[in-house]
Amino acid sequence: MNSTPQSGLNVQDRILKGQVRRALDEIGDRWTCLILLGLFRGINSFDAWLNNYGISPGILSSRLKHLAQIEVLSRSTCKSDSRRVIYSLTPKGQDLYMWALAIWQWESKWVFRDSPHTVLLNHADHGTVSDLHFVCAECLAGVSFDNVAITTGPGYESLKLLPGSAERKTRTSQKVTVEAEHFGRSMDIIGDRWSFLIISAAYFGVARFDEFQAQLNISSNILSDRLANLSNHGMLARNRYSERPPRYEYILTQKSLDFYQIPLMLALWGDRWLTVPEGELFVRHHIPCGHRLKVVAICAECSEPVSAASMSFA
Ligand SMILES: [Zn+2]
Ligand SMILES: [Zn+2]
Repeated sequence: MNSTPQSGLNVQDRILKGQVRRALDEIGDRWTCLILLGLFRGINSFDAWLNNYGISPGILSSRLKHLAQIEVLSRSTCKSDSRRVIYSLTPKGQDLYMWALAIWQWESKWVFRDSPHTVLLNHADHGTVSDLHFVCAECLAGVSFDNVAITTGPGYESLKLLPGSAERKTRTSQKVTVEAEHFGRSMDIIGDRWSFLIISAAYFGVARFDEFQAQLNISSNILSDRLANLSNHGMLARNRYSERPPRYEYILTQKSLDFYQIPLMLALWGDRWLTVPEGELFVRHHIPCGHRLKVVAICAECSEPVSAASMSFA
């Protein structure tokens, strides 16, 4: 196999050149995530996004244009009313369903802890799903941050690392609807590029302020802001490792360990779609069985895998 051992990859390689970063460049802002999740949840017209998410028309149209450009969604006119434009996911967009499932599962567990998720997940004929388990398609053992190995593929060397795009604005002063407010709680993390990258770095053992700064090439004020925000969200626990001067390291919590499926699904999607002619950039293996990693989501009700065709959000 034309790849280098995992030990040859430093954290920067894995995070900054990795598929998570590349996928974030494509779909990683709050509104883009909401538009995509909306599509999975049956929201497919301009007006419906406006009404459901309180997004501004200007932002909505620029994000839709971008998603059409990267071939994640396509436009068509409604059969019954030719003036009405509807949007649908292309195969590339439809392939994000595992990412949408990962978000739904994590939100169900951590955001809607005391109440059912406002979006119901239906599977096959039996109706609503209460929980999902993400497992390896080969050995059916669980997939977690500490049992996935990454190696580089033949396309890796040819990858021209794009300079980090300017940080996208994710804070908004807009009025948000109740639904957007619910999702807003997870979108603060899922839809914020830097928060996402900080958590991803933490999976590779980065814990201290200066380490995050060096690995992510992030300005210190943005880093402190995001670390504070992630701590407030219970995604990182602060642990003082030096009394004088007071210094802290940031430790993953159960909430952020469970979050791992979301960047992983994004990375696997990137492995499939953000390729170069020379071949794949990264190859992932499931350490317990040694097979190429393919993740399936198992329905807690019927113990069958959930496929794009067998599930729907309501
Ligand atoms: Zn396995
Ligand atoms: Zn089921």
